[in-house]
Amino acid sequence: MFKKILIANRGEIAIRIMRTCREMGIDTVVVYSTADKEALHVQMATEAYCIGGPMVKDSYLNQQAILTIALATGCEAIHPGYGLLSERADFAHLVTESGLVFIGPKAETISALGDKANARSMMQAAGVPVIPGSDGPVDNAEEALEIGKKIGFPILLKASAGGGGRGMRLIEDKADLRKLFLEAQAEAESAFGSGEIYVEKYITNAKHIEFQILADRQGGVVHLGDRDCSWQRRRQKMIEETPCTTLTPKLRAEMGEMAIKAIKSANYEGAGTVEFILDQAGNYYFIEVNTRIQVEHPTTEMITGIDIVREQIRIANGTPLMFKQEEIEFSGHSIECRINAEVPSENFRASPGTITNFVMPGGRSVRIDSAVYPGCEITPYYDSMLTKIIVHGKNRGDALRRMRRCLEELIVEGVSTNVGLLYVSLYDLSMIKGDYLTSTMEENLDDLLGYESMMRIDDEQRNIKL
Ligand code: ADP
Repeated sequence: MFKKILIANRGEIAIRIMRTCREMGIDTVVVYSTADKEALHVQMATEAYCIGGPMVKDSYLNQQAILTIALATGCEAIHPGYGLLSERADFAHLVTESGLVFIGPKAETISALGDKANARSMMQAAGVPVIPGSDGPVDNAEEALEIGKKIGFPILLKASAGGGGRGMRLIEDKADLRKLFLEAQAEAESAFGSGEIYVEKYITNAKHIEFQILADRQGGVVHLGDRDCSWQRRRQKMIEETPCTTLTPKLRAEMGEMAIKAIKSANYEGAGTVEFILDQAGNYYFIEVNTRIQVEHPTTEMITGIDIVREQIRIANGTPLMFKQEEIEFSGHSIECRINAEVPSENFRASPGTITNFVMPGGRSVRIDSAVYPGCEITPYYDSMLTKIIVHGKNRGDALRRMRRCLEELIVEGVSTNVGLLYVSLYDLSMIKGDYLTSTMEENLDDLLGYESMMRIDDEQRNIKL
């Protein structure tokens, strides 16, 4: 097993990876920016090196600097976490070329699946259902219009290199197509350096259901169940849970097998997630594979007892998976809330500042993945996520009640957060039933924000039996 790993990330995910490394007896090296001198990942790592200024391009995306530190400190592997360099095939390639191990899939796989238009074609060829849309990228609005006429509106313009909902535009009316096409293209170009756009039919009233996969180098592939990530704002996840309440056992098994088929067709290695859109009629369609650890992975760990980061490291070290599909046991229910430093009522603008007080919830079956502490500075340079709260319950009602209790307990002072909004979300009727869709949270936003300022729920709602 590796003795020393460089973690090319920051925040809660750097710490989460470090925890597993420590349990495995692996030393950790981190890099940091001048803005992160006091950051928790710097304090907790075995060794930490400052590599540049606050802007990610000067530090956390500085591939050469990261590699130099890894080589100079005798690291054997690099874990990229999520975001930042995690889905950069050129980085994976550079790491491997330097004789180190990249903890993730091969560069070719990242590149093939990272091009989402290409991934669609690959999956189609492998017999995985994809959403009706363009065969590969489209060159202009006229071409998108032709496809829209064929498959029917609404359509979604998506960036081939996309992520985080950027470069995506919903077209409900043909008249808006040209303008929105240019917008999507420009946004994709500036976010990803590629303005390539493809078209998918927009599936209305849908759920986002994904499957966590582990694939070893020897060809072993298992899935660790589904996650319902439909509680979204601007196509970004806010609350995730597993298992999805509305999936029948039959559909779950079928989708799980399809996810494995998708992964096998990509000759995949490591941990990954196959994302699907599920419509009201029970049809499911592939949307993408995320070739990295995901923010919401702890929910899966809570119900399976499997440490996904440990499996990533073992796979990267060439060790075969220790379990078969039928040996994976699923127990109870898990929910995750993402706590962000933002002001929901002001269009979710970021809320940087100094955390003056921070008290985490605790108790039975509660997991906190966090990188903040009283006195720490939340700078405007990075993602606004402060902390994740993950709970486990013997069933869904138990988990929901526990999460509500956790949010009541949590104290964050010095910056604004979305805690109130998350709290009232847990009382939304569709959340209580579990039948919420990807559009539900935004549709109910005004109501939710109305309650949010008070973080108060009326008695009728509070007494709905879970
Ligand atoms: P990104 O990689 O930018 O996050 P995804 O392809 O994963 O983009 O999609 C993000 C979200 O956008 C999904 O969870 C879903 O809510 C919505 N979405 C994506 N494609 C479709 C589609 N064809 N129809 C309906 N909703 C979609």
